Amino acid sequence: MRRAYGKYLGLYFVQPYYLPVTSPRRRLVAASILLLLEAVAFALLVTESVTGALAAAGFTCVSLWAHLVLHEFGHLIVAKLLRLPVIAVRIAPFTGWRNEVWIRPAPSATALPLRMVLFYLGGPMTNLLTAAVLGTATASTSTPLTRAALLGAALVAALLGMANLIPGKSPRSDGRNLLRWLFAPTATRAALQAGYYQEEVTRTLQTIARGKVGDHRLGNPVRDGNDPRLALAAFQQRWSTGHTQSAADLIADAERLAALARADSTDPAAAAAIAQVLTVQFGLWYLYAAAVNGSPVEHQEVLEISELAQLAFHAQPHMLSARVAMSLAHLLNQQPKHARSLLLDIRPSVDPPDLFSVAFLLRAIAECYLGNHADADTLIRAAGGDYQQLTQVVTAIQAAHAVRPLFAPAPMADT
Ligand SMILES: [Zn+2]
Repeated sequence: MRRAYGKYLGLYFVQPYYLPVTSPRRRLVAASILLLLEAVAFALLVTESVTGALAAAGFTCVSLWAHLVLHEFGHLIVAKLLRLPVIAVRIAPFTGWRNEVWIRPAPSATALPLRMVLFYLGGPMTNLLTAAVLGTATASTSTPLTRAALLGAALVAALLGMANLIPGKSPRSDGRNLLRWLFAPTATRAALQAGYYQEEVTRTLQTIARGKVGDHRLGNPVRDGNDPRLALAAFQQRWSTGHTQSAADLIADAERLAALARADSTDPAAAAAIAQVLTVQFGLWYLYAAAVNGSPVEHQEVLEISELAQLAFHAQPHMLSARVAMSLAHLLNQQPKHARSLLLDIRPSVDPPDLFSVAFLLRAIAECYLGNHADADTLIRAAGGDYQQLTQVVTAIQAAHAVRPLFAPAPMADT
């Protein structure tokens, strides 16, 4: 495995697949302490009585919870109004700090950047609006105690709204996400789509590895052990979420695994399992890089993938997972006939559903390259709708006027 992989994979680790909207915990704790001090001091000043001051301060602090709930409601209402699909809403201000609205927009949705900006604005704007309403209400009250309490609550709302608008380091920061959709809509949309694609890759890998490693043995990092199955399980566990580590880490992990697969001491079945996982993980991304991003990988990368795929195929030539891996390598190597011949016998009644969908789609690509577009259409339909992103890769290849190269030609040496 070579470091050059990072060039193709770097983009895909910047965006979580779902888009939870959370109020960052540390900022909230700091805000609460500040708020308490401010509320007591302010209330003492206005009411000039200790009991009154404590009551007003108490109200102000309790209002924080209400503002947190209102914040999430703001996001939720905008999501509903703009028809952004909501996956989950978690509002639990009395049991902890996890307040979330999860949405899952389609990358190709119309006016997505604008809708996303409004969605991220929804929470903070609700807080700022509440602050304005409370501030106005203060003017019409005469008792110092009520005025202190209302002003305190207004201040909390304003602080919460503004704090969430400041772009934070967290991938969940409203301000940060808002700016990304505002100033880099194309890259953000591409990252969202890539995140969904990695979900499909992960699903395929889980199907391939099912039963090959015991889940109860998980937990040890790859670098600590030489048990190949354990190393593979740890690799998959680490990368099943995809967005927490960098592309460089993935490549370093993959290099260690590939070395284990090639080692003489590794038993052939374990080596085959590793080879299948690596071939499918990287092979599907190379396909994406070529078909969607228009940046095919270097031929050297394809040769490395092919070498691993051979390892898997020779150990278990009849298993669909091994045939999928090998045909993927053939496709990338621009040998569609070889790829097709391995995928002629797909049995939906016998093979795992996730795997036969992928197999159908890979065969559809082979048919595209062989000029059999009607067959490709039939195969895309047979694959069902579970692999939307991979299906889009296939249709992108199909729609290209001249069929796209899947690897970049080696640069010619000057004579
Ligand atoms: Zn928010």
